[in-house]
Amino acid sequence: MIRILFTFDPAARLDLFRTFPSIRSFFRQRRNMAYLRTFGDIAFTVLILLGLFGPQDPDSNISLFLSWGVWWTGVVLSWFFVGKLWCGVCPFLGIGRLLQRLGLSLNLDPPHALRRYFLHIAVLLFAAIIWTESVTDLKHQPLGTALLLLTILAGATAMGVLFKGQAWCRYVCPLGKIIGAGATMSMIELRATPDLCRTCRETACKKGREGMRGCPVYLGAHNVRNSLDCLLCGRCVLLCDHRSPRLLLRHPFVELIAVKGRDLTCTFIIPFLAGSQWARFIAEGQWAQLLLPDHVIPFPLAFSLLLVFCFGIFLAVVAAGNRLLGIKPSSLPIHCSPMIPILTPLAFSGELVYRLEYFLSEIGNFPVVAANQFALPLDRFAFAFSESALELLSLFILALGGAGSFYVTRLFQHKRLKEMSRDGSFLPVQGLAASICIGYVLLIL
Ligand code: SF4
Ligand code: SF4
Ligand code: SF4
Repeated sequence: MIRILFTFDPAARLDLFRTFPSIRSFFRQRRNMAYLRTFGDIAFTVLILLGLFGPQDPDSNISLFLSWGVWWTGVVLSWFFVGKLWCGVCPFLGIGRLLQRLGLSLNLDPPHALRRYFLHIAVLLFAAIIWTESVTDLKHQPLGTALLLLTILAGATAMGVLFKGQAWCRYVCPLGKIIGAGATMSMIELRATPDLCRTCRETACKKGREGMRGCPVYLGAHNVRNSLDCLLCGRCVLLCDHRSPRLLLRHPFVELIAVKGRDLTCTFIIPFLAGSQWARFIAEGQWAQLLLPDHVIPFPLAFSLLLVFCFGIFLAVVAAGNRLLGIKPSSLPIHCSPMIPILTPLAFSGELVYRLEYFLSEIGNFPVVAANQFALPLDRFAFAFSESALELLSLFILALGGAGSFYVTRLFQHKRLKEMSRDGSFLPVQGLAASICIGYVLLIL
């Protein structure tokens, strides 16, 4: 395991199902996933009810910290270790799945327009979430937080009623797209065994079988080529009689290097994720007064412009990187840029820093909030982290992200990217990645 995780070998994998058969048994026992989903459904129902009907004072409602601090920070942290496993137990699908089971779905095929423009919709929805979160200070609004969760739930349910399977997850869920992009640098992957699938005629992993539906995102294990869309729900593990699906431990960067940025989802999601982080750091940091003067321009408009501007910065960074690598704009399609995998570790660490900052600055206050809400003598357990400790941790995580980007660049250099880079040099690209890292540091300090 240590050799696989710390030595880059594109082919090295450890079959976790074979090494730890209990993991495979866990996925094959449908009730295990059902228990987890039920727990998630109950927890989310409680969160939404607390947000809707609990006290609206942020210092007296635990749903805020549980939603933004525990849940979202946990999901971001999980990208690296378990990829999209969160999606396997996600509660947003509970009602849609129930309605489908009751036969209350039109069971339509997802239309062509949805399959064509899904990414635009997903990025717009993600932008709407980030915008609402920042402009309305959602992290301090119990009702707003509950309404956001309900909106996502309504989207997933509506698409569950219209379309077969989980079209919401496959095409437009903004959280799913972000988690998928993060999962491209995860330590694990679910993949089929090609030799076993080659002779398989029934493809039950995709189509399902009598009494059991197939892959909810229309893939099937044999079609999983990357970590973007597979929900790690484990259904194919149960459906396949040939023991083909495997859960594999891998070096976290093998997918970034193998795909080389040839993926449209990451091409838009990674620059937007990173750009939105810069916009959020600016809006919530010491630069806010200077760059977003409230008396000159209303904050919602200023933040919208900032969001677009920062997204533009990262698109420009990708374009500049392409140029430095000698990739001519006309010689390759837009989605073919090794700059995306180079930026991915930084974007991941930036999101982690942003979410952890909230988590660590609020966790010490959680006993007080719980005491206020439930009239319990918990406030004596309150504590606080010093600002310098938070800054040090943020710098450490950013340094890891920067080192990751540097390492990905080195790996590309080692492979020489012959088919992509004609005569470009990687040294300026490393300088570009270092500048982005310094930009992050300036924004968080
Ligand atoms: S894609 Fe979205 S709705 Fe679907 S399982 Fe993942 S987070 Fe949940
Ligand atoms: S994963 Fe199993 S069911 Fe699916 S194609 Fe391969 S062998 Fe067939
Ligand atoms: S490929 Fe398998 S694990 Fe992935 S979403 Fe489909 S059924 Fe679930």
